[in-house]
Amino acid sequence: MRYRVGTSEPVFDSEPAARYRHSFRARRARRGGYSPPVPYSAEFKCFAGCDGSWPVTHPIYRCPTCGGLMMVDHDVEALRDRSGAAWIKLFDERYGGTAWPYGSGVWGKREWVMPQIPDEHIVSMGEGQSNLFWAERFGRQLGLPDLWVKLCGNSHTGSFKDLGMTVLVSVVRHAVANGLKVKAVACASTGDTSASLAAYGAAAGLPVVVLLPRGKISTGQLLQPIAHGSLVLGLDTDFDGCMAIIQRLAEEGLVYLANSMNPLRLEGQKTVGIEIVQQFDWQVPDWVIIPGGNLGNASALYCGFRMMADLGVIDRMPRLVVAQAHAANPLYRAWSAGKTSVEPVKAQPTQASAIQIGNPVSAPRAVKALQEMNGIVEEATEQELADVAAEADATGMYTCPHTAVALAAMKKLLARGVIDGSERVVCVSTAHGLKFTEFKAAYHEGRLPGVVSHNANPPMNLPADYGQVVDAIRNHFPD
Ligand SMILES: *Cc1c(COP(=O)(O)O)cnc(C)c1O
Ligand SMILES: [Zn+2]
Repeated sequence: MRYRVGTSEPVFDSEPAARYRHSFRARRARRGGYSPPVPYSAEFKCFAGCDGSWPVTHPIYRCPTCGGLMMVDHDVEALRDRSGAAWIKLFDERYGGTAWPYGSGVWGKREWVMPQIPDEHIVSMGEGQSNLFWAERFGRQLGLPDLWVKLCGNSHTGSFKDLGMTVLVSVVRHAVANGLKVKAVACASTGDTSASLAAYGAAAGLPVVVLLPRGKISTGQLLQPIAHGSLVLGLDTDFDGCMAIIQRLAEEGLVYLANSMNPLRLEGQKTVGIEIVQQFDWQVPDWVIIPGGNLGNASALYCGFRMMADLGVIDRMPRLVVAQAHAANPLYRAWSAGKTSVEPVKAQPTQASAIQIGNPVSAPRAVKALQEMNGIVEEATEQELADVAAEADATGMYTCPHTAVALAAMKKLLARGVIDGSERVVCVSTAHGLKFTEFKAAYHEGRLPGVVSHNANPPMNLPADYGQVVDAIRNHFPD
């Protein structure tokens, strides 16, 4: 849907403007609000293919027949009314524009994301359109000059979670406006989902509850929902323990579930793959490497590529690498053993705290993504992730521990010759490094547990003495 600049009036290519304006006024008069008469639609279906479909505004998180995951199913036939070239043109026209809501990289692709949500219910903070960083110096050091990092952490709350949360919270706002009763929107979180839900919920005026594993998230992440006025419940367990409780709360109907088990999130997150291709002028990279915890994001990435392929925007898939921390690697274990079902493990502590997950809810979705994208699962130890973060930072990045897991996996695959130095590789950076100050400080002060800080760069403290400052500079940069 295109809209007249500065208004919420859609512009149809095929319809005479007068007829359209008439119907717009009629609708507004009848409903007191505006719903775009969109030709596209999406609905909930069972991920495993059982019968039945539900409106996206319906609070349903599991298939009533098989108890499995749900998915959002788009009317792809309807979307074929535009050619691949026409979609590209439309998305390019909107990108970086000022017309609401297209300042958001997610809503700039609204027909592919969540077509039925009218402008007035969209809760957006300009998510997406994040920098695709050419890691030129770091890549050359590694012998991989075509290395890129998609900086999804350059976002309102500092992580990619905003991409999905704008969609989920907008749908909830739309559903509530149409009569759905919601006491609170809630999530279990390793820190970034809660920060994002808290911000978007606060902007929409929706009550928010977050369940956090106490002592297992960064201070910055803990403070975000506190600042946004959420009910913050720090539970004496890990993420998997919080997830079990939140699922029960949702099943009993006490809260609306905002975890990525709810596929509405994945619809927004899938724009990462589309944006990467758009930022390469619609060329497909050879590899995309993404850190995985609950494994929703890896499957969302696939959904974006699938949609581009189905609608004639791309003609091949990149290969997928899901990168896990060795301390929390259930997908790595399963995939390396040739299994397509993932056994839960007890997640051990890792600096990559947002992926310290032993029982990934979206495992079946991620397995499908790996199968469809000729995928690989790789893992990284604490030592590997800590060192690569420091190496990358020293070339100008500011790497969160999860992004470091992806970079470490990439290095290993390059060393083994699985990735060739001539290929184009994109690592997905999932959060901003500034959220993980404790990790950086501990590394450079040489006190990360079980890690030797090979690249520590601690500050030198000196008296305010000119001669000593000169000596320090001369010693550090000898002629
Ligand atoms: C949520 C999160 C992940 C993992 O995403 P999943 O969809 O749970 O696999 C990775 N990195 C960061 C920073 C996150 O916040
Ligand atoms: Zn089912």
